[in-house]
Amino acid sequence: MADANNKDYDAIVVGGGPAGSSYAMTLARLGHSVLLLEREQFPRFHIGESLLTYTADVLDQLGVLDRMSAAGFVVKRGIELTGTEGTFRRLQLGKVGEGLRGWTLHVERSEFDKILLDTAAETPGVTVLQKARVTRLLNSGERISGVRYGHDGAEHVATARFVIDASGRAGVIARGLNLRKADDHLKMAAVFKHLGGLDEGKNPATEGDIQLGLHADGWVWAIPIRPDTISIGCVAPAEILRASRPEEVWDEHLARIPRIRERIEGTTVVRELAGENNFEYHCDTLAGPGYFIIGDAGSFTDPVFSGGVLLALTTGRRAAEETAICLAGESGEAEAAERYQNFFKTGYETYYRLIRAVYDNRYASGGRELRVTPYADDRRLAGAGWWGIQEKLRATSGGPFDTEEAIEHFWLVRALNGDFWSGKNRFFQRLREEKSWHLFDDFKPVYECPVHAGD
Ligand SMILES: Cc1cc2nc3c(=O)[nH]c(=O)nc-3n(C[C@H](O)[C@H](O)[C@H](O)COP(=O)(O)OP(=O)(O)OC[C@H]3O[C@@H](n4cnc5c(N)ncnc54)[C@H](O)[C@@H]3O)c2cc1C
Repeated sequence: MADANNKDYDAIVVGGGPAGSSYAMTLARLGHSVLLLEREQFPRFHIGESLLTYTADVLDQLGVLDRMSAAGFVVKRGIELTGTEGTFRRLQLGKVGEGLRGWTLHVERSEFDKILLDTAAETPGVTVLQKARVTRLLNSGERISGVRYGHDGAEHVATARFVIDASGRAGVIARGLNLRKADDHLKMAAVFKHLGGLDEGKNPATEGDIQLGLHADGWVWAIPIRPDTISIGCVAPAEILRASRPEEVWDEHLARIPRIRERIEGTTVVRELAGENNFEYHCDTLAGPGYFIIGDAGSFTDPVFSGGVLLALTTGRRAAEETAICLAGESGEAEAAERYQNFFKTGYETYYRLIRAVYDNRYASGGRELRVTPYADDRRLAGAGWWGIQEKLRATSGGPFDTEEAIEHFWLVRALNGDFWSGKNRFFQRLREEKSWHLFDDFKPVYECPVHAGD
């Protein structure tokens, strides 16, 4: 391990999750030196286990998809929405037109994040220190110019042209500069466990699919992260979890979803209950003198459609590209910060709108119901929430929206696969018209997909 004490780098990255690793490997491949400081020793537990097809594409572009595929994770080809009566609806990831990937992975994050961090550490130019906790930001004038960190029982200082906040929920720069905000929506929380002894022969759904179990007080995820291990999480309004015992909420909400109950029959707990709250926060400033904020450090939104890792990888990569442009003197920092922020906000706000669409009716009506019906044959809620938007799309758009099949399996599934920066995606075009669903203050959207050029 290199002695990083008092060294000067092109960039210091605080945090070795997907965002930090993506940033570090990208900047180093562009010829620059990076010190990445991670407070934990990997492998460490992390929640966030279902990936999008675009996430697999980015992993491929970063050169790590083969390693991920060889790690024994589970291949995901579909999303099952299911309800309390055992009704269900499946969305096939592959029904998105020619040339796009129809599969991705569910992953055990401890191993997934370790593969990414190891790949970053193997990249010439990157020094990774684990069990290295950043405790202070250093300034030079109004610029962030370095960090103080604890490692091996001693305090160290390192300086760099750029310091990158990839510290996830901790938000070392985001909170250190008091940039983080929260709005009044999406006050949800989650409790989750891992169950072992899974036998997918008992799965009434399609093997490998994520199941999203929808009920009146929230939703339940079932994500197989290994052939014999499944992650089960219950997401509910934070006030429900605060007012009850989390273990009881987990049991009771899971009991409401027959197709998930059937899938996990005979399993036993291999990771005890844990939880996360704080489902919506964001920063309007994501870059400034000497810093970029990437991934969860900059924004977080409800995980129902599994966008977090994609957003972390892509914002990490883009921030590294902008850093390299600045280091080469090809752009001023203020312009780079502006470009980066517009890119970040386009992706996160599009994902946020998708989530607001899911929850909309519940909040608009002040009612308790999560009005996302998975029932193809149940049109009682057709005017409400998410499916209501589909109906409106069909009424106003023509072309690819001629049939319901075409809607679901083209723009909608493409949206759910990670099409967050597309200007062409009709589903997102519609969501972007909802004025009240903005997340950030005014910004200039960048409709240019970082995963599939030209989209
Ligand atoms: C309940 C829940 C379910 C989710 N489900 C999904 C899902 O299915 N699919 C999906 O794509 N996403 C999901 N997510 C989101 C996903 O987990 C995150 O978006 C993703 O991990 C963000 O990556 P990151 O690198 O920005 O942050 P993180 O992965 O959190 O990494 C941050 C790193 O910084 C380190 N760190 C923090 N402070 C310091 C410090 N002071 N010094 C040094 N290091 C520090 C931490 O130890 C950590 O390793 C979910 C999130 C939640 C809460």
